[in-house]
Amino acid sequence: MRDAQPQSIYLKDYCQPEYWINQTELTFELQEDATVVTAVLTLEANNAGNQSGVLELQGQQLELLQLALDGTTLAADAYTVTDDSLTITGLAQQHQLSIVTRIDPAANTALEGLYRSGGMYCTQCEAEGFRRITYYLDRPDVMSVFTTHIIADGERYPVMLSNGNCIADETLADGRRQVSWLDPHRKPAYLFALVAGDLLHKEDHFTTMSGRDVTLRIFVEPQNIDKTEYALDALKRSMRWDEEVYGREYDLDIFMIVAVDDFNMGAMENKGLNVFNSSCVLANPATATDAAYQRIEAIVAHEYFHNWSGNRVTCRDWFQLSLKEGFTVFRDASFSADMHSATVKRIEDARMVRTVQFAEDGGPMAHPVQPDSFIEIANFYTVTIYEKGAEVVGMIHKILGADGFRKGSDLYFERHDGQAVTIHDFVAAMEDANGIDLTLFKRWYKQAGTPVVSAEVDYRADEQALYLTLRQQCPDTPGQTNKQPMWIPVQLGLLDANGQDLPVQVTPSVNAAGMETWTAASQVLHLTEAEQTFVFSGLESQPVLSLFRDFSAPVKVEFEQSAQDLLFRLQHDSDGFNRWDAGQRLMLGWIDQARLDEFELPEDARQVMAELLSDDTLDPAMVSYLLTLPSEAYIAEFSDQVDPHAIHLGRQRVRLAMAMALNEQFAACYQRLLSHAEYQPEPQQMAARTLKNLALSYWSVASDAGVRQALAQFGSSDNMTDQMAALQALICSGDDELAQQSLEAFYQQWQNDALVVNQWLSVQAGSADLGTLSRIQQLLEHEAFDWRNPNKIRSVIGAFANQALCHFHAQDGSGYRLLADAVIRLNATNPQIASRLLTPLTKWRRLVPALSEQMKEQLERVAAQPDLSRDVYEIVSKSLA
Ligand SMILES: [Zn+2]
Repeated sequence: MRDAQPQSIYLKDYCQPEYWINQTELTFELQEDATVVTAVLTLEANNAGNQSGVLELQGQQLELLQLALDGTTLAADAYTVTDDSLTITGLAQQHQLSIVTRIDPAANTALEGLYRSGGMYCTQCEAEGFRRITYYLDRPDVMSVFTTHIIADGERYPVMLSNGNCIADETLADGRRQVSWLDPHRKPAYLFALVAGDLLHKEDHFTTMSGRDVTLRIFVEPQNIDKTEYALDALKRSMRWDEEVYGREYDLDIFMIVAVDDFNMGAMENKGLNVFNSSCVLANPATATDAAYQRIEAIVAHEYFHNWSGNRVTCRDWFQLSLKEGFTVFRDASFSADMHSATVKRIEDARMVRTVQFAEDGGPMAHPVQPDSFIEIANFYTVTIYEKGAEVVGMIHKILGADGFRKGSDLYFERHDGQAVTIHDFVAAMEDANGIDLTLFKRWYKQAGTPVVSAEVDYRADEQALYLTLRQQCPDTPGQTNKQPMWIPVQLGLLDANGQDLPVQVTPSVNAAGMETWTAASQVLHLTEAEQTFVFSGLESQPVLSLFRDFSAPVKVEFEQSAQDLLFRLQHDSDGFNRWDAGQRLMLGWIDQARLDEFELPEDARQVMAELLSDDTLDPAMVSYLLTLPSEAYIAEFSDQVDPHAIHLGRQRVRLAMAMALNEQFAACYQRLLSHAEYQPEPQQMAARTLKNLALSYWSVASDAGVRQALAQFGSSDNMTDQMAALQALICSGDDELAQQSLEAFYQQWQNDALVVNQWLSVQAGSADLGTLSRIQQLLEHEAFDWRNPNKIRSVIGAFANQALCHFHAQDGSGYRLLADAVIRLNATNPQIASRLLTPLTKWRRLVPALSEQMKEQLERVAAQPDLSRDVYEIVSKSLA
């Protein structure tokens, strides 16, 4: 908390530090009332940093006990301490600085730095948490070799962990235990980690491609020891995949994961010691859904992949955050695509980008993948940095092809191993390895906003040619106007009357960047100017155009295609992603119609959908996505002015119409996929369950037989995927008493399992049928709820504001008020979580006027609070600007 208005930090102001810290030796004395931290820093002046003999270290909420330079205690007038810093003047070339501070982990509710979670100690230092542990140059370009000694009561804390390899474990004269760790790899402070607690672990081993043995351990609280198997398996598969696909080998003797209940993020890639939110690592069939298994697999892979893309090569400053995050999300997405269905993974990613990232681009927090400025870096762990950053890397992959991309990544790792670098360095490695100029492409990193590409076709029968004119334009965003054209890879296909892909001959053959316009291997057209016309020749009749296959660029597409063409593509497109996209566009049209009037499913669409449901040669997971209606949030992104109640009504009507028209087919599909095989979290079973449970959700909307089946599945299933799907179907059945009884039974069964209880909370809070304001208030007062635990806050308030849209947008503004109250409350205890919860309130400008006014009022109420954290201040002030 601070008095002065928080200031922005600018990328253009970056300069190197005046000192480096070559060695960092830390000693933690963990005591029940407080922790004493001794830091011994080996300093060396950075001559390029224009040395002035002044060292300013960052530090927050620290009590300074002692300060010594080269063994001599510093006089009080030799340094200055403020709320955020410690400044020492008159320094020479080299020094050893010793700092003793006292901190209070038990009182740390912000969950940044060192804190208590249940009975254990743990840390979260990214981005700027290390400054809550000791005074330090807390910036990623300062890389140091860390040695860590942990001293504590060995009986209370039998497990004491830090980064690197364990080098000593001894009993001190006073009976306390001291465990020492050395991490030989230089790293920034944000990758530091410490864990101490009474934990159990599961162990496994991995032999690397050069034949080294690595010990793998997952540490959990004792009650969770039966939930570690899947994460260990996912870890081994990730290690193997990174060797095979990127040639990257693990570099320490041990790799550890610790599960923690109170955690702001999903997980953290600390060197050799990943700390995970327990919801992102713990699973067994009875308690975790298939979706949870897949999330765990992806996050374990993501954090492991950071060992190279993030840790070995790290970021120079936080404006480069997407250097490690965009690249690593791209890597984990490729891994998931290889483990499951590439089409389904692409659909999930595009859905996320279109729903959440496009919304961010269109709102007050719009920022480029490489931002120019920020007030609080914690606010920039965004879908733009992560998901759009990954899409940008994916476009480089599309432009260079798999082999070219691998050459580029090899050069990047080789050239920059052990360094803190920039996004520019990453692109330069891609360019140099492939002899290509990506100058124009780099606009993707600097320009915020979602480009809009409009397409116009003109088929000329006399020339047997199709003229395709593409125009691109990127809307203004806060602080950015008059944007330049981007390099947009347009993957496309032309379908003949039977739905077969036609061969493509196109002119012009070279684009503005000197690149071939069309490469048959990747089927990609390169749009690089504001407007370009491409001529496809040799076409005897007018083909159906399939544009932006595989979601080849994160753009909005304006292309009028008839319902008939969309249905044709849903049925025939050889690109699975575009089959889905065509279906979604068709459904958006229906929902738009159904806002105004009752709706009946067109007969031709009914036939195509019935065929999809009975075709057992198709991937059931893909069929399930093809028949899933767009979410209300997704529909909102396709509306100019958002009326959440009209969207809800339209979607409900279409859902009912589909359920009625295809009732028999859904029932038959469900029966066909019903299996009595033992549950396994493996791709084929997961795919079948996805479609089976989608069929159940429609079937139970339209008929009592479906509801009876849901009830039977709820009572008899041996796995959480089926039990939760049945519970959801019962909640949507319209029978309130049945829904209530089922929820009650579910809670009785699972009340002692925190992760399942979180699912129980969110299935109610996020439900259009149940998530009313009074229900939310009940849940907030329930014994299972806890304001200190981020997972519980997300399960109730997050689910309510992001999913139960018809209640969140209640006409009287009560939903907005509830969210604002929560933000105000959390601002004082956990600013990161408070700030993240705020996002739904930033969308007021696009709402229908009556709601817009009420939402704005609540934002203004938050803005008027005294003692706003930097996190909340930044979002609120930008949203109202
Ligand atoms: Zn990451």
